[in-house]
Amino acid sequence: MITHQHEAVIIGAGLAGMRAAIEVAKTGQDCAVLSKIFPSRSHSSAAQGGTGASLGNLDDDNWEFHMFDTVKGSDYLGDQDAAEILAKEAPEVIYELEHMGAPFSRTPEGKIAQRKFGGHTLNFGEKPALRACYAADYTGHVLLHTLFEQCIKYGIRFYAEFQVVHLIVKDNVCRGVVAWDVRHGGLHLFRAKATMFATGGYGRAFRITTNAHANTGDGLNLVMRTGLPLEDMEFVQFHPTGIYRNGILMTEGARGEGAYLLNKDGERFMKRYAPTLMELGPRDLVARSIQTEINKGRGCQTEEQKKQGIPGDHVYLDLTHLGEARLREVLPQIFELARNFAGVDPAKEPTPIQPTAHYSMGGIPVTINGEVIYNADNDSVRGLYAAGECACISVHGANRLGCNSTLDATLNGRRTGRTIAKHLPDLIYEELPDDEPEKAEIEMDWYFKADGSENVADIRNELQDTMMQNCAIFRKGEELKTQLDIVRELQERYQNIGLQDKSQAFNTEVMEAMELGHLLAFSEVIVYGALERKESRGAHSRTDYPDRDDKNWLKHTLAYREPDGKIRLEFKPVVITRFQPKERKY
Ligand SMILES: Cc1cc2nc3c(=O)[nH]c(=O)nc-3n(C[C@H](O)[C@H](O)[C@H](O)COP(=O)(O)OP(=O)(O)OC[C@H]3O[C@@H](n4cnc5c(N)ncnc54)[C@H](O)[C@@H]3O)c2cc1C
Repeated sequence: MITHQHEAVIIGAGLAGMRAAIEVAKTGQDCAVLSKIFPSRSHSSAAQGGTGASLGNLDDDNWEFHMFDTVKGSDYLGDQDAAEILAKEAPEVIYELEHMGAPFSRTPEGKIAQRKFGGHTLNFGEKPALRACYAADYTGHVLLHTLFEQCIKYGIRFYAEFQVVHLIVKDNVCRGVVAWDVRHGGLHLFRAKATMFATGGYGRAFRITTNAHANTGDGLNLVMRTGLPLEDMEFVQFHPTGIYRNGILMTEGARGEGAYLLNKDGERFMKRYAPTLMELGPRDLVARSIQTEINKGRGCQTEEQKKQGIPGDHVYLDLTHLGEARLREVLPQIFELARNFAGVDPAKEPTPIQPTAHYSMGGIPVTINGEVIYNADNDSVRGLYAAGECACISVHGANRLGCNSTLDATLNGRRTGRTIAKHLPDLIYEELPDDEPEKAEIEMDWYFKADGSENVADIRNELQDTMMQNCAIFRKGEELKTQLDIVRELQERYQNIGLQDKSQAFNTEVMEAMELGHLLAFSEVIVYGALERKESRGAHSRTDYPDRDDKNWLKHTLAYREPDGKIRLEFKPVVITRFQPKERKY
């Protein structure tokens, strides 16, 4: 096994990983970034609609409104110390990106343009705020490329197409990782004083998702396998507007620009669910409203679609009144996506949409400075850090607001990078345990010898379909119990997979098999947490427990995998500073 040594090793080259790397490199300390795909292909580049910050370029916005909206949006499960930092530091983070060269869209006077986004308001809920800074609907793309340029400027070492397969943590001290060289084959040991996870989200556990194929939650399972907990995994966000049948995202920026949601009677049904904010309600509420319309028989499936036996139903996102010129100017990507993937001209006819798995609120629990914790007292693992979508800080609580995630990734990526830079002089290259890194070799060997009768794609399909059926927008005890059995049975079948490709270079069959292992492992945690949490809060909506229960459930879950494979939950209090939990009305 080839051994590398870097003071800091960051896994993930999305907004969080690259932003952190810049902070470490700026101090002259040595930093490497590993990514299983080429850095600029990270899912951050798919972010469309915008990044939140109370610049107040077009209205009287301020950070306190932003903090309040984030806390209320989280259904009061978000930690308010983290929300305060997010809202306060956001403008500085945006201006810094601007000065790095990010080409934001502009107002006529040349300021950064801002648009409306769901759940973002002025004056504590009075009316929609213009808060999302954007570059047409390619916001993530331009931010990611801007950061990549900066990383190159600082001479950061990239290991592109290195898939991390193993994390070495013993006695709450991190000692590095082992990665598979996707291009050439072979394992590499990376010893590091500081290791950071920035491995993004896990939407691929669901059939209908906005997420890239690479979003398989590897980091979560690698961390959990060492005995460390995951936080609030039961909270999975469904974005209201994915293109019907494939889930490709139609950004919330579309509704921010004025698009409507219509049911089969041509009615703007959001007036029933969010009379003040209408289509700009928070995502959990809008997604539930769409699903309710569909469940009540007001979906828009055509007779032709029914005849063809197309599963699932949809409602319409109507952009026609914006006109082609405006669409091409401010929403050029979704203009094309609607044409290519929904087969409609969005300037002339409404686009069929359905809710789609989008974002993971839960993840690797961290302090507000990005240190990974190992218990409910916030004690942290030496030398291990996390930020971005794979982390749970927890700023988004039970439901993230749109345009707060690219912000979370860049802002908390920056903070975590600063923490690492500060800690590095006191950290050392820790000893490796006797049986490491051989454990990774044994595991890789298992994949290359796997000759069972089960097929990886079949198991993945079953997982995605059943997660969609039993653990999506509306959940119920019996269905969750069924799903837990299904996931556990799929895990057993996974032990008997057969792989044909024995080659070393670009062995995507082995990669996908490993990713499926991660999907199966954390899906069990999602379902287990959803079954245990007997209330409805944010994105977690139980039809058998329809109310929020602050008395018993205003707390975070920490899920541990015990040595015998079982999951155990602990609980952690929510940090409440400025805003006491209230009923949520929009
Ligand atoms: C279609 C879409 C549109 C979105 N639009 C918006 C928006 O407009 N505004 C907003 O705020 N948010 C948006 N989001 C959410 C936001 O983009 C993401 O949450 C955020 O960009 C995640 O950044 P990240 O750095 O945490 O992870 P990512 O950008 O997903 O990067 C993950 C990195 O980890 C690496 N990695 C993963 N596993 C391994 C492994 N085993 N070994 C090595 N490397 C690994 C990957 O190669 C990748 O480099 C959107 C999300 C999607 C899917």
